[in-house]
Amino acid sequence: MSQKEFKKNKKITEVFATLYKEIIKKELCCACGACVAYCESQDFNVIKMENNIPQYKSNKTKRNCTLCGVCYSICPQTRKIEIKLDLSLGIEDKIGPISNISIAKTLINSIKKVGQDGGIVTTVLKYLFDKDKIDAAIVSTFKKDLRPIPLIIFNREDLLKSAGTRYSISPQLLPLKNLYKKSKDFQKDNNIQDIDKLRIAFVGTPCQVKAIKKMQYLEKLPTHIIKYIIGLFCFENFHYEKLYKLLEKETNVKLVDIKRTFIDEKFFIKTWDNQKFEVDLKSLDPAVRKHCLFCNDFTSKYSDISVGSTGAPEGYSTILTRNKKGEKLLKNLFLYNYIVHYPISHDEKKKEWKEKKEKILKRIISLKERKKVLDI
Ligand SMILES: Cc1cc2nc3c(=O)[nH]c(=O)nc-3n(C[C@H](O)[C@H](O)[C@H](O)COP(=O)(O)OP(=O)(O)OC[C@H]3O[C@@H](n4cnc5c(N)ncnc54)[C@H](O)[C@@H]3O)c2cc1C
Ligand code: SF4
Ligand code: SF4
Ligand code: SF4
Repeated sequence: MSQKEFKKNKKITEVFATLYKEIIKKELCCACGACVAYCESQDFNVIKMENNIPQYKSNKTKRNCTLCGVCYSICPQTRKIEIKLDLSLGIEDKIGPISNISIAKTLINSIKKVGQDGGIVTTVLKYLFDKDKIDAAIVSTFKKDLRPIPLIIFNREDLLKSAGTRYSISPQLLPLKNLYKKSKDFQKDNNIQDIDKLRIAFVGTPCQVKAIKKMQYLEKLPTHIIKYIIGLFCFENFHYEKLYKLLEKETNVKLVDIKRTFIDEKFFIKTWDNQKFEVDLKSLDPAVRKHCLFCNDFTSKYSDISVGSTGAPEGYSTILTRNKKGEKLLKNLFLYNYIVHYPISHDEKKKEWKEKKEKILKRIISLKERKKVLDI
């Protein structure tokens, strides 16, 4: 039976070819890596990620496609199972469920030095490793060129290499693609008895978190081993090459001289010799990835906890707990002195304070939507 006939018989029209036509070709792919991670983890040998673009490995591997349609359904940029997913999780609006909002910072000195804001994400992961709640974490690391590298790490010593933010795409789901192919030596070195029994924490942007949740909703391996989801706030993301070219044009600072970058109304650069430069975000608009113009999830509404700087003073992070798991996790981080609250003044009642923070986040969400309408 030809692929065409097979497709007709099975009535599955939404397969990789459709994903390519509707999403990838139109530059709406956010390069999360979910399609490739799933397909490769099943050993179908059809698609790969090249230059952050999912594509057939070759014309020959095209024929290996089983037309299962999973890549289409789990893609965060398609709507296929979105309503069902939201219903199953009780998600009713763009900000998602929030059981509590905290402003806090890390108490771990080594993390203080490298964390982007309050160093909360790295501290959460350290706590989970320390208390033997996870065996591994999926994070984004980098080398001197600041190009994000998604990586699964199996010990807490590697955590510091991931702290801080790099504002371009890190296809965070890709590390899942080779999990079942890890060599015996690798498994022995990392004390892995059984891949299916691993407990992993995942860090990612809202679109990446959505891909994980879609896979879990459809019970697609290997997301059954993701036990904690830490979502980042995200207003927009940039094309790596375009971003650093524009930054050099605006500041004369070369990529090799940049130590770190951060956004706080403007885009800031800190160089290795401790100089600080600022760039108007508007001038970086040509480097914004097109798919971000169609995204309205700013706060990672599908996570267990979400972390960002919006609404927090310098050196602190805003943390949203989304469910019982997130709440318990955060409570323990305070209890065991991993993190500390930002002191709220006596006259700021807790409830009013929470409402105020929620209002700020909702304002950014509408700003994100408005900006996108103007940009399109
Ligand atoms: C593309 C992008 C845009 C963002 N935009 C906003 C924003 O508009 N407003 C806001 O409040 N916050 C934004 N954030 C989140 C913010 O930059 C911090 O990540 C967050 O406040 C956590 O800080 P921290 O000190 O707790 O994290 P840290 O302890 O420093 O840990 C940072 C974590 O981020 C992960 N990470 C770094 N770069 C990437 C990447 N490119 N993709 C996926 N994961 C990555 C690392 O794996 C690490 O675990 C954005 C993050 C990204 C990646
Ligand atoms: S085999 Fe399934 S997951 Fe892989 S490309 Fe084809 S439709 Fe997508
Ligand atoms: S699943 Fe992710 S990588 Fe694949 S097409 Fe969709 S957005 Fe792109
Ligand atoms: S703005 Fe949306 S689509 Fe773009 S990287 Fe952030 S979460 Fe993904």
